[in-house]
Amino acid sequence: MSEDYCLIRETAKPPKADAPPYAECVLCREPTEYPESYKGITLCPVCEWQEAQRTACSG
Ligand SMILES: [Zn+2]
Repeated sequence: MSEDYCLIRETAKPPKADAPPYAECVLCREPTEYPESYKGITLCPVCEWQEAQRTACSG
């Protein structure tokens, strides 16, 4: 994991959608909480949590 990845997670937090269609998770293709129109990395709650655990960006 690079520092750039940490920065992306810090600055490009997608807006959460109130209703379908939801974007697919880029890792497991499950529906996420983010709108389908969002252009960028979208992770489902599970993958988001796992990525957070792996990257552990604390600074
Ligand atoms: Zn996922």
